Amino acid sequence: MTASQPPTTAAELRGAGLRVTAARVALLETVRHGDHLDVEAIASGVRERVGHISLQAVYDALHALTTAGLIRRIEPAGSPARFEGRVGDNHHHVLCRSCGAVADVDCAVGDAPCLTASEDHGFAIDEAEVIYWGLCPACSTVSSS
Ligand SMILES: [Zn+2]
Ligand SMILES: [Zn+2]
Repeated sequence: MTASQPPTTAAELRGAGLRVTAARVALLETVRHGDHLDVEAIASGVRERVGHISLQAVYDALHALTTAGLIRRIEPAGSPARFEGRVGDNHHHVLCRSCGAVADVDCAVGDAPCLTASEDHGFAIDEAEVIYWGLCPACSTVSSS
């Protein structure tokens, strides 16, 4: 093993203090290769890699990896939770009200948090969570024609 190689998924799990299981490795890879997947899509991705796994086991693994900071959970109001592998940069999301499409939105200005609260109530704020809602290009074309 040479020092120049990127850490394997298993090594990242160990580095985060997690026990390495085939399901967790498959789940982390599924989330990273996907695009803001919901739990159902993640479960089917994991099953393609390691065979049968219960939905409860998928939830447990998602919880462990989210807590460890390896994946990020976004919870749009009234929409199923999504998971992504892009963590630690406080980027935001734009969601389509009609079809549920999600896209990343980088911080508008400066470093996180990119939104300055008008009143911080004495808190040391380090993150802003913003979801922009609207219609994606495909859906806005449909509704305007
Ligand atoms: Zn749409
Ligand atoms: Zn994202």
